[in-house]
Amino acid sequence: MSNCIFCQILSKEIPSYTVYENEHVYAFLDITQVSKGHTLIIPKPHVKDVFEWTPDIASSMGEAIEKVSKALKKAFPNMQGLNIINNNGERAYQSVFHSHIHLIPRFPEQDGLSITFEPHSPMYTQEEMHAIAQTITQAF
Ligand SMILES: [Zn+2]
Repeated sequence: MSNCIFCQILSKEIPSYTVYENEHVYAFLDITQVSKGHTLIIPKPHVKDVFEWTPDIASSMGEAIEKVSKALKKAFPNMQGLNIINNNGERAYQSVFHSHIHLIPRFPEQDGLSITFEPHSPMYTQEEMHAIAQTITQAF
């Protein structure tokens, strides 16, 4: 898509810092660098979000996540952890609508990422949990 910033990066209209590339995916440094080495992995076909992924895209993205994660760990021996984040839809904080995975290395020092998990309140009952799982199971 010509007005997509990530497609423009793929076509080299916009420069980027390449981390990894194969025929299916491209990985490059996020310009914001929430932490050192903050990398984005994108599928080469323009797909908006995970709901537009094909099994082939899922497979190549999964493979790239594994490769880039291990490269980050090797590149930065003081890395203490790695957040792998994917946002789908505005409600989920997606801001560029070409599907992408953030790999955010975590170091001892403070960085720009904060994540909180607040339990649903009130807690779901066992019956409700069963019904939720069943609803999802029946959607396959
Ligand atoms: Zn695109």
